[in-house]
Amino acid sequence: MAIKLYSHGACREVTGSRHFLDINGRVLQVDCGMFQGRRDESYHKNKEMPFDAAAVEALILTHAHFDHSGALPILVKNGFKGNIHTTSASRDIAQIILLDSAHIQQKDYEIIKGKAAKYPERKLTAYEPLYSAEEAVQPLRHFVTSDYHRPFRPLDGVTAEFFDAGHILGAALTHITLPGGMRVGFSGDLGRPGLPIIRDPEVMPAMDYLVLEGTYGNRLHKTIGMAAGELAEIIHKAQARRSKIIIPAFTIERTQELIYLIHTLQLEGKVPKLPIFIDSPMAVNATAIFKIHPECFDEETIRRFISVNVDPFGFENIRYVVSSAESKEINAFQGPAIIIAASGMAESGRILHHLIQQIENPDNIVAIVGFMAENTLGRRLAERAREVKIFGRSYQVKAEIATLNAFSAHADYAETSAWLKRHDLQRLKKIFLVHGEDAALENLQRELLGIGIPAVEIVEYGAVHELN
Ligand SMILES: [Zn+2]
Repeated sequence: MAIKLYSHGACREVTGSRHFLDINGRVLQVDCGMFQGRRDESYHKNKEMPFDAAAVEALILTHAHFDHSGALPILVKNGFKGNIHTTSASRDIAQIILLDSAHIQQKDYEIIKGKAAKYPERKLTAYEPLYSAEEAVQPLRHFVTSDYHRPFRPLDGVTAEFFDAGHILGAALTHITLPGGMRVGFSGDLGRPGLPIIRDPEVMPAMDYLVLEGTYGNRLHKTIGMAAGELAEIIHKAQARRSKIIIPAFTIERTQELIYLIHTLQLEGKVPKLPIFIDSPMAVNATAIFKIHPECFDEETIRRFISVNVDPFGFENIRYVVSSAESKEINAFQGPAIIIAASGMAESGRILHHLIQQIENPDNIVAIVGFMAENTLGRRLAERAREVKIFGRSYQVKAEIATLNAFSAHADYAETSAWLKRHDLQRLKKIFLVHGEDAALENLQRELLGIGIPAVEIVEYGAVHELN
């Protein structure tokens, strides 16, 4: 039995998750994410897949995030014919993400083509979309769904089982048993205990090898319980000042967590019922998916909401806004309100229009609730820039900036160690670290060796590891 493990992405970086198990010449892939980052570089990394897609027999999708699912249409275009195994919630979320990506790629292409024609001296290259909306739909025809704790056989003689990753709705840790009995685990993205709505990360059966993510391998988060308190504080402030709270938020998971937390605070009588606008068609669709997957909810959500027939995401003071005409009407709204809109890093989307309207009023609050990458408007706000540019015009940042950094969907290094220690580690030979930048992976490596893991290796792009 010859078993090889290698990765073509998420090696010393956090995007492009693509891992492979070669089992006696038969290839099982785990995740097929898109690379993100500098435009030219990531375009080529995404377009030129350095492996034979047609030779991949089956794929396991740990969760629907774009950096894990986004390149599935390219894989199918390149000849992949097998099944894509995932949970039903991940399938439904992946559908939204892939179609959204196709539309964004088309829009970007048109904008950059226009700019390239207008300013030839800038030598801009307009890249054609990597897939159309029609092609984005194709992977959905390959999906075979299994719920948590329902073992399935991705290849003859190979058994796999999903365990809750506690990361986003539908996210799974995957435990794979190979012919001969070797067991390999994949964390996908590891979540954290206490996140609203979803269950905490589960424990997998004993493994010989584990492929583990390390996004926040050098960070310690505040506990999620503090997020509710911080949220309550700014809601009271907005009520007292009769002002607006503007929250740029990712449409999947973070938006629903905010809705859930505000609803819970209201039910507990801890905050006044301010009008809430969820101003994003994609968030409306994503929330509809949450509603049809109560099997992914934690005990608290079941007890507080589902068992008493209360919709966690629907209540009298929340309004979901789809049309752009309705979105514009929010500008005229008088009095205190909470406005949640995309994009999460305030780079595009309706959030920009709300920021333009509200950012120069010192009574208003902009709440930062997510990771803000470098060179984004969200990062400049988080760093308290005094002036920002939106659509080429300058605005004074007079609104209060509140950073609620207890929100994170990834385990920090202490949470990762604590999660690992709950496992039976008797037969564990080695942990392979992926999905993190150098400093994070190196720190996590030290931490894990410190708790007695026998070997911890940082995975290099394309390097082949023989497992025995
Ligand atoms: Zn993720």
